[in-house]
Amino acid sequence: MPDLTRLHAHEMAALLRKGEISSRDLTAAHLAAAERQNHALNAWLVIDRQKALAQADTADARIAEARRGGAAALANLHPMCGVPVGLKDLVSVKGGQATAGSKILKGYIAPFDSTVTVRLRSVGAVFIGKTNMDEFAMGSSTEHSAYGPTANPWDLTRVPGGSSGGSAAAVASFHAPVSIGTDTGGSIRQPASLCGIVGLKPTYGRVSRFGIVAFASSLDQIGPLARDARDAAILLHAVSGRDPRDATSAPEPVPAELLSLLPGDDEAAAYVKGKRLALPREYFVDGMEPGVAARVREAVAAMEAAGARVEEVSLPHTDYGLATYYIIAPAECSSNLARFDGVRFGHSDRTSGEYTSDYLRTRGAGFGPEVKRRIMLGTYALSAGYYDAYYLKAQKVRTLIKADFDAVWAAGFDAICAPTSPTVAFPLGARMDDPVSMYLSDACTLPVNMAGLPGMSIPAGLSDGLPVGLQLIGAPWRELSMLRLARGYEAVTARAPWRDLDPADLHLTDDPTTPSPIERSERQKRAATGLRDQA
Ligand code: GLN
Repeated sequence: MPDLTRLHAHEMAALLRKGEISSRDLTAAHLAAAERQNHALNAWLVIDRQKALAQADTADARIAEARRGGAAALANLHPMCGVPVGLKDLVSVKGGQATAGSKILKGYIAPFDSTVTVRLRSVGAVFIGKTNMDEFAMGSSTEHSAYGPTANPWDLTRVPGGSSGGSAAAVASFHAPVSIGTDTGGSIRQPASLCGIVGLKPTYGRVSRFGIVAFASSLDQIGPLARDARDAAILLHAVSGRDPRDATSAPEPVPAELLSLLPGDDEAAAYVKGKRLALPREYFVDGMEPGVAARVREAVAAMEAAGARVEEVSLPHTDYGLATYYIIAPAECSSNLARFDGVRFGHSDRTSGEYTSDYLRTRGAGFGPEVKRRIMLGTYALSAGYYDAYYLKAQKVRTLIKADFDAVWAAGFDAICAPTSPTVAFPLGARMDDPVSMYLSDACTLPVNMAGLPGMSIPAGLSDGLPVGLQLIGAPWRELSMLRLARGYEAVTARAPWRDLDPADLHLTDDPTTPSPIERSERQKRAATGLRDQA
């Protein structure tokens, strides 16, 4: 039997329908890979063998039943039926943990399913487990997790990006064909870029946020990570749509075409022809690695050679993205995280017996340094006297950023092409002592969240042996055309030599003596302290 973990979700769907494989075998193969390799990656906080196999059996029964019902019944099954998926550990799954990467939620058991969970269950998807993440999704490297960092399978001494770094590393390592992440300022696209996979942030309002631990409510979106555009489209289809339990979810129809995204390579390549692509000048920022800029320009040139028309455009307010994001996101997080008071959820320190001091002790011990920094920044920005100067001002600039994008759509462009991340994956520890350098990781992704637009990162080759992501940005609700373009790019570059490469360090994760990223980062910290002591 071929290695089942190498299949794409859409291939699994076809083989499951034909009865050539079972969801139980698929699930068992993915569980085995995850269990064997996780010590070297720390991508998973939970691998739930028992529940996953039970879900797989249910899916197999459902597929068998459909087969008895005939071709129409089989065609009615969602392609995610029986397919393994990883969930970022801020998705509520009834009866399971949802730590959001934080100590403050240690021991918390979700009493209900998120809407995303409900939808995935209803189509028959199989939950392999919960993936590691930066605490409350604040970060770009997964090093802010209270449960230790995740390693990048391309180079185990480097970060996978973040905050959905566990979801990205798991998919890049073939532990699941697809996973769920969240993106507030880049947390799906940037780790997808750094791990060499596809990651899509939908239009704000496309996917219900009900039951997902909130970071910044006006920016957060849930979306798929996958190994190709077709799989991202299938998972997006499964979780999208209006939900009465999230007032910001939109009654926008979910296109059925997502289920079969330009299956033939020729028709996919032909899709690129005549498309108008905008290349924003401001996205080739100072400090961008030349290898990243080169791969992105080559990707755009490949689409041009396939018949796309490329023009340079200007998005003049791009420079303000970072400053405005770091007012708005902390402001919203300071309000969202007020609920972690030691009374209602998770960690609770009641030693003093007095509410205020127990509250301070609970939050003091429960939150990590980055989360505290954000709460302080946000509380300050929202305080009387500063609200107008910071928060209100940032909201006004946000409108200008959105207007820049609106002008591009009004001019008739089909998509914007840009780098996803200014650099390839950076070494573990490299940006931990300098929050601003960490924040700069998302300079190219943040404006998309500020404007509520759909955006995705797709692999565009390697620089110094590490993956580079091409970012595509679409007009609101145009995920389908954005995905078709991504699929077109995949077809145009189907024979590129880097397409077939495995993550370079993946084979090391099979070796039980390979150190875990937790050991690596502790060793690094000890070395740094040693150096300081010597000096
Ligand atoms: N890295 C950004 C931050 O730290 C974005 C994170 C995200 O998208 N959740 O806020």
